[in-house]
Amino acid sequence: MAYKIGTKCVQSGYTPKNGEPRILPIYQSTTFKYENADQMGRLFDLEEDGYFYTRLANPTNDAVAKKIAELEGGVAAILTSSGQAASFYAMFNIAGAGDHIVSSAAIYGGTFNLLDVTMRKLGIDVTFISPESTEEEIIAAAKPNTKCVFAETLSNPALTVLDIETFANAAHKIGVPLIVDNTFPTPINCRPFEYGADIVTHSTTKYMDGHASSVGGAIVDSGNFDWTAHADKYPGLCTPDESYHGVTYTERFGKAAYITKATAQLMRDLGSIPSAFNSFLLELGLETLELRVRRHCENAQKVAEYLEAHPKITWVNYPGLKSNKYYDLAQKYFPNGSSGVVSFGIAGGREAAVDFMNGLKLAAIVTHVADARTCVLHPASTTHRQLTDEQLVACGVNPELVRFSVGIEDADDIIADLEQALAAI
Ligand code: PLP
Repeated sequence: MAYKIGTKCVQSGYTPKNGEPRILPIYQSTTFKYENADQMGRLFDLEEDGYFYTRLANPTNDAVAKKIAELEGGVAAILTSSGQAASFYAMFNIAGAGDHIVSSAAIYGGTFNLLDVTMRKLGIDVTFISPESTEEEIIAAAKPNTKCVFAETLSNPALTVLDIETFANAAHKIGVPLIVDNTFPTPINCRPFEYGADIVTHSTTKYMDGHASSVGGAIVDSGNFDWTAHADKYPGLCTPDESYHGVTYTERFGKAAYITKATAQLMRDLGSIPSAFNSFLLELGLETLELRVRRHCENAQKVAEYLEAHPKITWVNYPGLKSNKYYDLAQKYFPNGSSGVVSFGIAGGREAAVDFMNGLKLAAIVTHVADARTCVLHPASTTHRQLTDEQLVACGVNPELVRFSVGIEDADDIIADLEQALAAI
C-alpha cells in the first residue's frame, strides 16, 4: 500500500519482525560474524546480500537510507558522514580526471569550493552557469566530456528556486543525469524525481536531522537514468570493474547500479560512512520531519511578511512572498512551502546587519541552518568568506544579506525577538 509522506516519515525503512525491537536498533559494530569463510567470500564478491564490515554497509544505516529513498521516491540510497561527502560522491561516482561538470552557480559555498577548488585539483573541470539559465544556455555550457549537471532545488543562502524541468530537459538532451541537492525543501516540500531529476543529494545535517545533533548526508537514485544508453560516457558503470572482481554494475544491479558502485567503490576507498549512532539520531529526526517542516514553513511565512512591512528592512527574500521573483516557480515546485529560511537586508548595510544580529535574544548566532531552534548567520563573513565579491554576487549572496533560519518555536515570540533587535539599531 502506498502511504502518504507523513506516514512514510514514521513507518518506512525499519519494519520489525515478530519479537524484534520496536525501535530501530543501533548496530554499533564494526563487523559481523560468519560460520565459514566461503560465505564471507560470496559477500565480498557481491554475490550475496549481507553485512561484513560497517564501512561498506551497516543495518542501522541501511534502514535509514531506505526511509530516505522512499521519501524521495527513489530506488536506492546511501548515507554518508556529511552533506559534503554526499555531494562529492554523487558527482565523483560518474566523473573523473579529464571530465567536466556543468553546475548552477547558486549553490552552497562549501559545494562551490568543492567543485571550484578540490575537484579541479582532481582534474575535473567545471563550468558555472546562472540558475536562471534557459535550456539552450545549459546545453551551450556542456562539452563532449560533460558527465552531469548539478544544482540546488532551493539554493543556500540565495533561496533561488530552480526550474527543475528546464535543467532536467537540458541534461537529458546532453545525455547526462541531473543531480540536485534537495536539502532545503526536503522531500516533504519537493520530490525532484517527479520533475525529471535523476539523482538527489542531501545534507541530512539540516531539516532531516533537524535538531542540530549530527552531521550527515544522503544520495538517492531515482533509477531512471539509462546509463547503458550512454555507455561510452559511463565506462565505470557499464564495463567490468577490475577492482571488484570484474563486476559490471549495470548488468548485475540494474536500477541500483549507481548506488551499488558508490558503496562498493567509493565507500570502500574513501570511507565517509556515518556512525550507526548518528544514523539512529537521523532516524528520530525523520520521524517528525513532516510535522516540523510544516511548522517551519508556517512560521517563516509569518516572519517574512512581518519583515517585509518593517521600515528598517530594505528587502526580504522568501519564495512564499508574492513580491518574490521566484513566487510562481515556488508555487509550482513547492506548493506547500519552500523552507524555514528567510534572507533579508537591513538599512545601514553590513554594519547594521551585525549590530542587529548581536541584539537578538531568542535567535542564536550559529553556523547552521534548518534547526528546530531559530538561528541566524551572516554568510559574507562566515560560510562564504572564501569567495571574492564577484563570486558572492554570482552565488546571489549580497554582502549585507542576513540568513534567518526560522525555527519551530511560537511565531509570536520569534517576531517579538526581531522587533526588539530592530528597535535597538
Ligand atoms: N548542501 C547544502 C544545501 C548545504 O546547506 C550544506 C551545508 O550547509 C551542505 C550541502 C553540506 O552539508 P554538511 O554540512 O552536512 O557537510
